[in-house]
Amino acid sequence: MSDQPYFDVESKSRSLESATPQEIMAWALEFFGTSGKLCMLTSFQLGGMALLDILGKLEKDVPQDKRLPVLFIDTGFHFPETLAFRDEVVARYGLNLRNLTPIVDRELFKAIYGDDQLYYRNPQECCRVNKVAPREMALKGFNAEISALRRDSSPERANIQILSRRTDGSFQIHPLANWTRAQAMQYLKDNDVPIHPLHAKGYKTIGCFPTCCTIPVGEHAPERAGRWTGTGKTECGLHLVGQKQDTNDFAI
Ligand code: SF4
Repeated sequence: MSDQPYFDVESKSRSLESATPQEIMAWALEFFGTSGKLCMLTSFQLGGMALLDILGKLEKDVPQDKRLPVLFIDTGFHFPETLAFRDEVVARYGLNLRNLTPIVDRELFKAIYGDDQLYYRNPQECCRVNKVAPREMALKGFNAEISALRRDSSPERANIQILSRRTDGSFQIHPLANWTRAQAMQYLKDNDVPIHPLHAKGYKTIGCFPTCCTIPVGEHAPERAGRWTGTGKTECGLHLVGQKQDTNDFAI
């Protein structure tokens, strides 16, 4: 991308390891935000809520329509509690929300795949159409994305960097990379931040409602044990850091 700022990404990322999430968010807003090409992706879980609270404080004097675009992937398969919580959080923080929808509507989806229960037969394909592709399409309008990934949440995420660059040249920013789940929880408690109601019902992470995609596992289970349990699938494919997701791959 021609309008990408140039700097040494690895060295900048290393220097941010000792910064707080607030400092990283402030840096990102200053460095990328003025270009209008920075966004944040969230599904309103623990880390995302911490970042949204930090963002709200940093942008308290910014009109809602000028605030950082906050992307939410509305797969069409969310729990009703997630959609209600999204709306509550948008109102509370005055978010500049961008609701991303699947690349095909439900009727066409059913016509292509026979029904809308592809998640049982081929969750990878279901995630590709309903989650990964809408996000990749949206990212074409940005050159940097903030998300709340943490290294301690799974082995697949253990090596994420605070700042990294994808092969398409865009930047990924993970202000909570070196935070633990306990630190995120403590931030929410200390700052009176609302928490997704399903966390209190044993859901450690919350994705789509089919039981093959998300189940409650209790507080002592690995954080992502309740996602696609028993299928071998551990990620929806959104956060394959550093790997280019070519939109042409999403043609169906
Ligand atoms: S999480 Fe499940 S329902 Fe949601 S897009 Fe992926 S496979 Fe489909």
